Amino acid sequence: MDAIEVIRAKRDRGELTTAQIDWVIDAYTRGDVADEQMSALAMAILLNGMDRREIADWTQAMIRSGERMEWSALDRPTADRADKHSTGGVGDKITLPLAPLVAACGAYVPQLSGRGLGHTGGTLDKLESISGWRASLSNAEMLDVLRSAGAVVCAAGSGLAPADKKLYALRDVTGTVESIPLIASSIMSKKIAEGTGSLVLDVKVGSGAFMKTVPAARELAETMVALGTDAGVRTVALMTAMDRPLGRAVGNALEVAESVEVLAGGGPADVVELTVRLAREMLEAAGVTAGKDPEKALEDGSAMDAWRRMISAQGGDPDALLPRAAETMTVEVPESGVLTRLDAYAVGLAAWRLGAGRARKEDPVSFGAGIELHAKPGDLVRAGQPLMTLHADETSRFERALEALDGGYAVGEAAGERLPLVIDRITAP
Ligand code: URA
Repeated sequence: MDAIEVIRAKRDRGELTTAQIDWVIDAYTRGDVADEQMSALAMAILLNGMDRREIADWTQAMIRSGERMEWSALDRPTADRADKHSTGGVGDKITLPLAPLVAACGAYVPQLSGRGLGHTGGTLDKLESISGWRASLSNAEMLDVLRSAGAVVCAAGSGLAPADKKLYALRDVTGTVESIPLIASSIMSKKIAEGTGSLVLDVKVGSGAFMKTVPAARELAETMVALGTDAGVRTVALMTAMDRPLGRAVGNALEVAESVEVLAGGGPADVVELTVRLAREMLEAAGVTAGKDPEKALEDGSAMDAWRRMISAQGGDPDALLPRAAETMTVEVPESGVLTRLDAYAVGLAAWRLGAGRARKEDPVSFGAGIELHAKPGDLVRAGQPLMTLHADETSRFERALEALDGGYAVGEAAGERLPLVIDRITAP
């Protein structure tokens, strides 16, 4: 086989055979297919798509490029391991309260997470703002943390779906990220290789998400649910709103503080509602029928106890003061009325420019940088009251953050249209 033949087939809107897909993924991982050839193929796929059989083959080939994790030493008789994946958004700190909450309700939660890139935050960056906490664990350490805390959140090892690592980096610089078959196979190859038994997907919709519209998000959700189901993973997806930020904190340490509020029984209503909803979905998918109710576990402190165990088991000090940025600046409400719009992308971009995110994957993040929101869409506001507080280590960052926020919020007479927090639930047909 040769790469040009495979590229031409997809360029001419053909269907790739299983043998072609297996060969091209394997040859690319080994370096026998060059980056420029894979870029051409990725662009042909972005333009001409793949059908369900091709996407399933592509996903399986990426899984086979690396190791598959093994959890049989852990199995509880009554429940499977529960996993969740969010397609990413602004202020999306849900994994932080969710993992210990689901553990407190009776399932093991092994969660391999990522770092932020661009305007969306990453779970590992958030947790690293806790003094001493370590993201990199060996497989044996992961099992130990799971046994002692019920939940572990850590970085994926380099052996998991290496074809995806290589291909994702290439797509990032060749304008080929936004392809539903490539996004779905990228996410699901890692999730299936992780050896999860059940998976709840949180597919974000809106300006702050990969998928800007409900139909695009639905297609992605349906594709991923089908891939998971075909691979024997009980998979369900919620489509949830990312037209405005989630919660009131955007930025690493600020989001940890908000997550701890949720675990203490408080926190913003949208974060609590989504955390509890996802927890119920995860428990159901994992087959935990007689566990504790998530709302009860937030109230009675058992979710907080699981959080403290999980953080301590990875070297973190759950009582340590969180880092704070050196400088703050308040943005005021321009006129009285109802906050009609607070755009997720504008807030995410501003937080990134304040130092909460990174431009290149090797850049450091500022743990204290970010944005505290003092009002959310639908709230009554008065001219001059604080709308948000910007946090940064240097005052020089404020100007570019304010530029990002320009036009990103509006005050009017009546609450504007916004997406419901949970838009739909997608299950296997
Ligand atoms: N996240 C992934 O892991 N892969 C994609 O392609 C997009 C988001």
